[in-house]
Amino acid sequence: MKKIAVIGSGFSSLAASCYLAKMGNKVTIYEKNHTIGGRARQLKKDGFTFDMGPTWYWMPDVFERFFQDFGKVPSQFYELEKLNPAYRVYFGTDDYITIEDSLEKICAAFESEEPGSSIKLRQFMAQALDNYNIAIKDLVYRPGVSPLELVTLKTMKKIGQFFSTISKDVRCEFTNPKLISILEFPVLFLGAKPSETPAFYSFMNYADFGLGTFHPKNGMYSVINGMKTLAEELGVTIKTDQNVEKINVENGCVSTIVVNGKKLTADVILSGADYHHTETLLDEKYRQYSENYWQNKTFAPSALLFYVGFDKKIKNVDHHTLFFDVDFEKHSQEIYDTPEWPNDPLFYASFPSKTDKSVSPEGKEAGIFLIPLAPGLDDIPEIREEYFEKIMDRFEKITNQEVKKYVIFKESFCINDFVTDYNSYKGNAYGLANTLLQTAFLRPKLKSGKVKNLFFTGQLTVPGPGVPPALISGKLTAGLIEKESKI
Ligand SMILES: Cc1cc2nc3c(=O)[nH]c(=O)nc-3n(C[C@H](O)[C@H](O)[C@H](O)COP(=O)(O)OP(=O)(O)OC[C@H]3O[C@@H](n4cnc5c(N)ncnc54)[C@H](O)[C@@H]3O)c2cc1C
Repeated sequence: MKKIAVIGSGFSSLAASCYLAKMGNKVTIYEKNHTIGGRARQLKKDGFTFDMGPTWYWMPDVFERFFQDFGKVPSQFYELEKLNPAYRVYFGTDDYITIEDSLEKICAAFESEEPGSSIKLRQFMAQALDNYNIAIKDLVYRPGVSPLELVTLKTMKKIGQFFSTISKDVRCEFTNPKLISILEFPVLFLGAKPSETPAFYSFMNYADFGLGTFHPKNGMYSVINGMKTLAEELGVTIKTDQNVEKINVENGCVSTIVVNGKKLTADVILSGADYHHTETLLDEKYRQYSENYWQNKTFAPSALLFYVGFDKKIKNVDHHTLFFDVDFEKHSQEIYDTPEWPNDPLFYASFPSKTDKSVSPEGKEAGIFLIPLAPGLDDIPEIREEYFEKIMDRFEKITNQEVKKYVIFKESFCINDFVTDYNSYKGNAYGLANTLLQTAFLRPKLKSGKVKNLFFTGQLTVPGPGVPPALISGKLTAGLIEKESKI
């Protein structure tokens, strides 16, 4: 039995801890914040409940596979509902497309926008399903140790798709700009521009249209709570308000970690905190990646978020509503090419109380608003306020109603909070983007190459950003730790 100290309590750390405890190790999680869940924490205020981070439950099969590894099913831990509609996308006032809960219905919606597009969509989705089976059922469960992991008969047949992009492939088939935006939307979860994301990642479109969008009752935090229950059943100890301040190394191995000023020992250290931050806890000679390395990486966006309690039910929106009524390309440039506060941002709004009565008082609405931003921008209260006004004005105009005067309260969360709360590099929200050059073995490694018993997990390493990848990342690291201990 090994004594394993896990830094952080996000999805990846919780997942890894469950596997490591099941293998018979003594696992303790040290979380700096007062509550667990990391970027998936929950905010409760005046009878309203908000997921502070993830709100889209996609790829239910990955969650099932996780719980199955422990002889469980998700329904033992939380209640799941498939959303219909899955979401709505606004392109202007009274101008929107609704994405429903089956490919059949989505094809009908496409056909009414662009005649002939439903046939193309079915072909595109057949390809997307094929990619999903290759990627999510197999490739993402490989630890990114060697390039050879990506070389299989099936991937060789798809080689062209690694060198084309989602953007190119979608534009080859579809001409309607609204349909193009909808088909490019899912890869935004991977953190890069569709024009920088390999076409092979169309498996995200299968996750979207093929598998659908789900809502766990009480929000995504129910999944965190479920994993906490499972972890504790397996014997994991979870400690909050425990800031890991230093990782000390002797003879190439971690000798101690310093938590709230106290030195603790462990046989293995696994960090689910942001990779860059974890390396800063080491003396410089034990860091694998330089500041220059991180600066040259494509980070997924940060975000400006508002959690708003409304004193009325909001009309003309769905549980998930996207506002793509401005120039997608211009906003992407302001995130990736010339980092600056966007002139006319796209934004996303979620109203979980449309589906789930438990998250707001009766007759009221819980609203979450998200504007994607370049990481590292100057984040000051006046700018947050300016953007709140900006999106509220657009929201009122597009959805034809007054909402501002019904705001009971609003809480904001932005770059500075990502840094303070999660030690996030430049305040990134979703970690390191999945571009071609930041895929699999080209991402920061799960195992330190310089310190023998130090491992990493989470959205900056393999396989990448998002909740399902975080679960997979935890499994992969736990597997590597087990393998090492047998050598
Ligand atoms: C606003 C937002 C919206 C998102 N939307 C979605 C979505 O809809 N669907 C989806 O699938 N994904 C979404 N994501 C991405 C998803 O939430 C993340 O990929 C995932 O939660 C990351 O988990 P993690 O374990 O890698 O890291 P984290 O959740 O960041 O966990 C790291 C933990 O380490 C802790 N920590 C850091 N430093 C220390 C230290 N020194 N000592 C102790 N503890 C420390 C942090 O407090 C944190 O708890 C979203 C993310 C954000 C931010």
